[in-house]
Amino acid sequence: MKKDDLKSLVTQIYNDTIKKIDSSAEPSKELLVKDLINAANLIQSMSNEQITSLEETREIVAKSYKNIAEQSIASYQKTNCSFEKLTKEHKKVFDKDKNAFINLSSMKDKLGTFHNEMLNEVQQANEVISQLTSEVKRLEKSSNIDSLTQIFNRGALDKYLTSICSKNSLKHELHLLMLDIDDFKKINDIYGHAAGDKVLIFLSNLLRKTLRDGDKLFRYGGEEFTIILNRIENNSCMEITQRILKSVSSNRLIYKGKSLSITVSIGSTVYYDGDTPNELLERADRALYKSKKSGKNQINVELKNGI
Ligand code: GH3
Ligand code: MG
Ligand code: MG
Repeated sequence: MKKDDLKSLVTQIYNDTIKKIDSSAEPSKELLVKDLINAANLIQSMSNEQITSLEETREIVAKSYKNIAEQSIASYQKTNCSFEKLTKEHKKVFDKDKNAFINLSSMKDKLGTFHNEMLNEVQQANEVISQLTSEVKRLEKSSNIDSLTQIFNRGALDKYLTSICSKNSLKHELHLLMLDIDDFKKINDIYGHAAGDKVLIFLSNLLRKTLRDGDKLFRYGGEEFTIILNRIENNSCMEITQRILKSVSSNRLIYKGKSLSITVSIGSTVYYDGDTPNELLERADRALYKSKKSGKNQINVELKNGI
């Protein structure tokens, strides 16, 4: 169990206890003790979640990238040294033969040898590069972190939802939001792909700041994000999504002197006992579709009975 989850759980227990004390006509010490024992039992019965915390995962990834970068530099230096050596040898041959009688056939042989040695070096360098590239890809896949936005990736979402759904019965409310940037293709078309990438980073940072401890943010793919809000009620979910819509539409990203603004559409749903990850995601997707159909820059909800 990670720090932010733990903090959010303690906040929830605290709020519930205060509510109970407020609503009880004669709150007693025994009532409080009983409640806290129940809470302690609940925590005991919870299993550790598979997903690691974002900060921890980032640290592991950063270390591995550093390792790969060091290997790349070492390999680059080696290729560079070999090239330098070969060029020197090459020059020596010409210097030696400069004043002598030019023997075309031996010159051709020597140049042929150099050519092969150079090719061999290039081939070796290419092999190292392709090995390191696949190492980066493997790392990204297993790291749970999206390399562009530095938030959790789709793989992390799948693991998280599988762990939630395998519990069968959750002891707290869970809301899942699907969020999609409106008319994102236009940003790429007008300002270029690099501007689009900057927008994705900008939105991820904005969402991270808007969410609280215990909430989880994932890049679902392309310009789509998934947010999981833990331990909140329907009203708070609405408040948070309205806050997100407002914060996204009112903040501007300055890119090469131009002020870019975006809006997002959101689809929201709630976890029901027995839900599979796909059922949960499909409901949120249907809600998102409603938001897109009804004019974008808004949130719609889809519950299990199709409301
Ligand atoms: P809608 O409001 O209906 O969602 O329209 P849209 O233009 O946002 O959606 P559409 O599916 O037509 O286009 C999504 C675009 O997102 C197309 C794709 O090139 C772009 N995209 C996906 N991933 C990335 C990325 O990592 N970087 C950039 N710059 N663009 C991306
Ligand atoms: Mg989309
Ligand atoms: Mg879109």
